[in-house]
Amino acid sequence: METRYIFVTGGVASSLGKGIISSSLAALLKARGYHVTIQKLDPYINIDPGTLNPYEHGECYVTEDGAETDLDLGHYERFLNTFTSQANNVTTGRIYNDVIAKERRGDFLGHTVQVVPHITDEIQYRIKLLGETGQFDFVITEIGGTVGDIESYPFIEAIRQLRWKLGKHCLNIHLTLVPYLKASGELKTKPTQHSVKALLEQGIQPEIIVCRTEHDLSDNLRQKIGLFCNVKPSCVIQSIDANSIYEVPLLMYQEGLDREVLQQLQITDAKEPDLTHWNDFLHKLKYPKSNIRVGLVGKYVELHDAYKSIVESFIHGGVANECKVNIEFIHSERLDDSSVQEQLGDLDGILVAPGFGGRGIEGKITAIKYAREHKIPFLGICLGMQCAVIEFARNVLHWKDAHSTEMDSNTTHPVIDMMEEQKKITGAGGTMRLGAYPCTIKKGSKAYEVYGTEQISERHRHRYEFNNDFLADFEKAGMIASGKNSNQNLVEIIELKNHPWFIGVQFHPEYKSTVAKYHPLFAAFIKASKKYKEQKGDSGNAAL
Ligand code: GLN
Repeated sequence: METRYIFVTGGVASSLGKGIISSSLAALLKARGYHVTIQKLDPYINIDPGTLNPYEHGECYVTEDGAETDLDLGHYERFLNTFTSQANNVTTGRIYNDVIAKERRGDFLGHTVQVVPHITDEIQYRIKLLGETGQFDFVITEIGGTVGDIESYPFIEAIRQLRWKLGKHCLNIHLTLVPYLKASGELKTKPTQHSVKALLEQGIQPEIIVCRTEHDLSDNLRQKIGLFCNVKPSCVIQSIDANSIYEVPLLMYQEGLDREVLQQLQITDAKEPDLTHWNDFLHKLKYPKSNIRVGLVGKYVELHDAYKSIVESFIHGGVANECKVNIEFIHSERLDDSSVQEQLGDLDGILVAPGFGGRGIEGKITAIKYAREHKIPFLGICLGMQCAVIEFARNVLHWKDAHSTEMDSNTTHPVIDMMEEQKKITGAGGTMRLGAYPCTIKKGSKAYEVYGTEQISERHRHRYEFNNDFLADFEKAGMIASGKNSNQNLVEIIELKNHPWFIGVQFHPEYKSTVAKYHPLFAAFIKASKKYKEQKGDSGNAAL
């Protein structure tokens, strides 16, 4: 089938969930047997979100090919179970960077370089790039921000031109808000009308309008929106608040979003979607047989989006065990010896999160000491794994000043040190060890039990690593390297021999957990936490 392009824009307010709507539509089309990919165009000037503080845009999601991308790409992969790549996330910064590089090379042959056509051409090129791979029946392109923002103008103009060129091979979905006014007890359509007008002013007539709402949209309201916005009432799709983002594909199916998309694109031979796995997943999510409480120790816990993929992986791992995972977000800056018992004492599992820099580091180390000594299941990710190494060095090997050289360059025991390949690098953007690398797991280890195979591949995002100069001492004392990158001799997984479940990973398993394929590390961590809770004597039956 020739590639169809679907553009998703948003209006009225940000955070309406364009990413989830795009992912849900993609999941439905995939369930009908199509090949689908989703792309996000972000109108900010950073080349990518890699250098952004998580407080700004939440988690930075890393793809197989090592692109540092918007967290929406995490949703795309979790819903679709297909890898994305650098081509799936493009910012204004990257577009300008490429156009300016071409100008410097002399590619424009003396012409004045302008927003229209040069920037808009580059945007169109980026959109079509995925379609031109020949791999996809549908390319869904989500435009970040809201219509009317100054910075999104070139993107909207690029779409307008593409619609003109591609004709019936593309369509536009506009996501808006239909607010409920408590005082008058009514849903209001005017913001949607205005937002569609803003889009019309820029030359785009949406074929489908998805309305975020807290209450059901009546037929009357659908007709009204349809009439004032020039769309069929059946193309006014309600997106009502859901308990879980994983319900949204089914809600969209009930609303007929995918059916209307196919009809608008004149695709008449589509199969019915096979939603068996999705329904099964949701059933297990809604009716867990047990529950546990795990602590997520990090320094960005005020903003749950900073740990988006970890939170979602917990949901998947919970479903794998038919267990509800209640997450306690624990601020590592507020954790010390005097409060650790109170804050962690009742938990069934402890995860120490990734991160950069020294803020909150001692709290993370305190949490790990507690998990190690009290034999509570522990999973350390990236910096969390590095902190487990530091904790072990300080409290088991008694190297009191042991540290990572990221925090203390003068330590006499630099148990975590900068990778050789990193030492010459000065620039900050896109310069870490990024993306997928292979890892070989030691047979007979806990990690081997988890993965059930010797060869794995996981994604990375770090500059520092376990310092092999100290490995023999660690292994003698009971912390073993159970996973290694054999090409570069880098320690990728550590675990404790004398502990029921204590694993630290230098990579980020959370980037690879999907609805169709729960990550084995999260599933095993939750299983161990469930067991720990049962052994404590607290019955794990009543689902919270
Ligand atoms: N700051 C650490 C490093 O660069 C860990 C990074 C992370 O947790 N993603 O190695």
